[in-house]
Amino acid sequence: MATTSYVIALGSNRWSRFGSPARTIRAALDRIGGVAAVAPVIASAPVGPSRRRFANTAAIIATAETPPELLARLKAIERDFGRRRGRRWAARSIDLDIILWSGGCWADSGLIVPHRDFRARTFVLAPLSRIAANWRDPVSGRTIRQLTARGARARKVDPAPRGH
Ligand code: AMP
Repeated sequence: MATTSYVIALGSNRWSRFGSPARTIRAALDRIGGVAAVAPVIASAPVGPSRRRFANTAAIIATAETPPELLARLKAIERDFGRRRGRRWAARSIDLDIILWSGGCWADSGLIVPHRDFRARTFVLAPLSRIAANWRDPVSGRTIRQLTARGARARKVDPAPRGH
């Protein structure tokens, strides 16, 4: 079967047996394999009352798997990485999402590609623009570069209110 490419988003907000969120992300990339490009890992400050830091990145993966086959494997990795002593299915240490596929669009009852929310998520677009700036979203027709610039403009015209 022909090899296709996927853009995967990786996020972690807790330590795993592989170490910190950034190390957990690197271990997950080793496990996924077929890595053609990886964006820098971005550490983000905790949001709201949570004190946890997040680490996020994106990667391009080459594989002959269909989207559901790849998703099944990513879910198995998520489960394995979340497994901790004493607790069989602890909260996930890693979140793996399929963002884009070189084959275009996919939709079934358990999977939608491109990922429904990625166009509004800076923590996905920022790493993505480092490795796939010219990749075109088949739904909006915009490139990752355009989607990223659009998000930045939207944030500029809609500044957070500065109260006293
Ligand atoms: P979440 O907990 O937000 O990671 O959502 C997980 C569920 O979303 C999975 O069990 C998938 O069945 C579903 N899903 C739908 N589209 C996607 C996608 N593009 N990538 C990963 N999961 C997806």
